[in-house]
Amino acid sequence: MRIVVKIGTSTLAHDTGRLNIRRVRSLVSVLSDLKNSGEEIILVSSGAIGMGAGKLSLPGRPADIPTKQAAAAVGQCELMYVYDKLFGEYHHTVAQILLTADDFEDPVKHGNFLNTLRRLLELGALPIINENDTVATAELGIGDNDTLSALVAVGADADLLVLMSDIDGLYTADPHKDGEAKLIPVVESVDDGIMSLGEGSSSSLGTGGMRTKLNAAKLVTAHGTDMIICNGASPELLYDICDGKQVGTRFKGA
Ligand code: GLU
Repeated sequence: MRIVVKIGTSTLAHDTGRLNIRRVRSLVSVLSDLKNSGEEIILVSSGAIGMGAGKLSLPGRPADIPTKQAAAAVGQCELMYVYDKLFGEYHHTVAQILLTADDFEDPVKHGNFLNTLRRLLELGALPIINENDTVATAELGIGDNDTLSALVAVGADADLLVLMSDIDGLYTADPHKDGEAKLIPVVESVDDGIMSLGEGSSSSLGTGGMRTKLNAAKLVTAHGTDMIICNGASPELLYDICDGKQVGTRFKGA
């Protein structure tokens, strides 16, 4: 299988913005093992702004664009340094790809990106993708990595997109506010009723929330690709997913 795995900032970092070492170690070991077993993995990793903010000792996620972009420049280095070091322990080679909206809209750039991606996979490298936050602004950018990972999954013709988040999946209501909220195991079609479940959600360190995840689901399922939302606190869930077990919420490709 060709699997695109998206990791959110809340999965990678503690609330302080500093790296969650235990989590990232376990994630890297599972992804390395899956690669060893023959799965093709493409990682879409957030965390540049969050980790940059931590490293620069900023009080929280920056709100203004220049500080965000400065934090991303610092954090992206840190992120790739950590991935390179940890995947290197398992003899896997990582490759950084930074993209902007334009790289999907311009057919030449998009073609170049896909050629590079394909070649990296043929060479056995592990592509790690993020938005190029130092040049993308909210107005011109893709804006969030849920959308970015969906665009990557469609472009790469992936079999599956897994969004690892700080929540177990999609619920019938916001589980932080409603004790009766139930996890929805399978979504056959991303219709208006499902889309309405994403309203008003957000996360403090990342930029996503349920709304961007449902938009991602709409995009990939229309392409015929399945998408799963599961809890990034347990990277071992990826083993269960590859074994075909029910994990989190699965959105079925049309
Ligand atoms: N590209 C941003 C970062 O690396 C994150 C975007 C997102 O969390 O969706 O910090």
